Amino acid sequence: MKMRKPKQEIVINNVQVSDAGAEGKAIVRLDGMVIFVPFVVPGDTIDLKIIKKKKNYAEGRAIAIKQPSPLRVDAQCPHFGICGGCKWQTLNYEAQLRYKQQQVKDNLERLGHIDTTGMRPICGSDNIFCYRNKLEFTFSSKRWLNEGELRDENDPGAVGFHVPTVFDKVLPIEHCVLQPEPSNRIRTAMRDYALEHQIPFYDIRNHTGFLRNVVIRNTSTGQWMVIVIVAEQRDELLLPMMEFLKKEFPEITSLLYIINSKFNDSYTDLDVVTFSGQSFITEQMPRYQGGTPLQFRINPKSFYQTNSEQAFKLYSFVAEFAELKGDENVYDLYTGTGTIAQFLADMCRKVTGVEYVEEAIVDARLNAKLNGFDNCTFYAGDMAKVLDDEFVKTNGHPDVVITDPPRAGMHEKVVEQLLAIEAARIVYVSCNPATQARDLQMLSAKYDILRIQPVDMFPHTQHVENVVELILSEKK
Ligand code: SAH
Repeated sequence: MKMRKPKQEIVINNVQVSDAGAEGKAIVRLDGMVIFVPFVVPGDTIDLKIIKKKKNYAEGRAIAIKQPSPLRVDAQCPHFGICGGCKWQTLNYEAQLRYKQQQVKDNLERLGHIDTTGMRPICGSDNIFCYRNKLEFTFSSKRWLNEGELRDENDPGAVGFHVPTVFDKVLPIEHCVLQPEPSNRIRTAMRDYALEHQIPFYDIRNHTGFLRNVVIRNTSTGQWMVIVIVAEQRDELLLPMMEFLKKEFPEITSLLYIINSKFNDSYTDLDVVTFSGQSFITEQMPRYQGGTPLQFRINPKSFYQTNSEQAFKLYSFVAEFAELKGDENVYDLYTGTGTIAQFLADMCRKVTGVEYVEEAIVDARLNAKLNGFDNCTFYAGDMAKVLDDEFVKTNGHPDVVITDPPRAGMHEKVVEQLLAIEAARIVYVSCNPATQARDLQMLSAKYDILRIQPVDMFPHTQHVENVVELILSEKK
């Protein structure tokens, strides 16, 4: 038998954390080397252990905090340190915002060579806890074990979140601070019911067990959707549990289930059964100019911005930068369920939304009808293919283009097409300043970049949204 030489443990004492870095990890700089360390904050003096060493960077773990940073606050969540969800929780919120602002500035300047003098201070979130309207929990027969803990074969498993990079083990969540109640109570009641009635949790490696996931969504108007996902049609296990949830939680306005016998957890291609209540929930969003709020019907598979309050602020910046007078032809690219399109619809002549998820377009059309708009048109298709000359001929030359692509940014062809279309104004909403910087650099061939507005939708994470106003240049 070949013996493996035990790796020598590298411990570094008394080093200072200098910055907040990628993926929510903090940064220690030492002799030209960057060491990424999670769950510590800039200004901490720590002892760390190297756990992975590459040519020009390393990953470390803090083994002691020698001198805590003045930027530190106590974690509100009992799972901080293992759960990957809110890695910046011990950094005070002011400092979180400063680092997000810096992240946008650095990306735009370094990757996009963009002048950021027009950049405004980031718009923070009033609520920094309970801000999410959707959480998905996993039931797993394999509970995450803390260091030194041994697996007990009789352990039924856990319900909670996947630990980062470990696909089959779940950290038991007793209390998550991201969604209001009764979110925690629903999850723990389901767990206790399942344990009492010996309903087995799913084993994603061996594909055994029954209870797989629960998705909990809520609206600011107090509606709750609960989607229970199980591995097979076993009514004798499922129906009494659904009955229990219905009775125990009168708050639930939409109680649904999905049978997922696939090897992965995605459910976008599966049928949803309504057990009780409605098959959807309805979110409300104030209109930019006041009046009766907009209504958005949300189906179990529909996308809706996960922080409703901040979504209103984000869209308000879009409306401000769009400077609509009433007669404009507007395109809303990557429209999702058409929410930005409808937010702008009563301030312009017409809006055309494009999105590749067909179900989202069905919802967009339905919602536009519910909101009484007859000037919104929606198309389903891949942006790089849909946005061609024919599209512009059919829908008319746009005065304003709103674009809100996914993290990867816009396809090069889409950017090229926008340069060819030459709309007078573009408002670019992004959830990834790095890809936004790349696209903005291309667009700057014909556009001037004016106002820049970062928005924090996800406190305690490194994520940041950014809205940028582009005006067709005089000198193009
Ligand atoms: N503007 C919407 C959604 C933005 S998220 C809102 O505010 O709610 C980005 C959207 O782009 C998603 O709905 C995603 O499905 C869509 N998308 C991603 N790649 C696309 C592509 N190649 N073509 C069209 N739509 C795409």
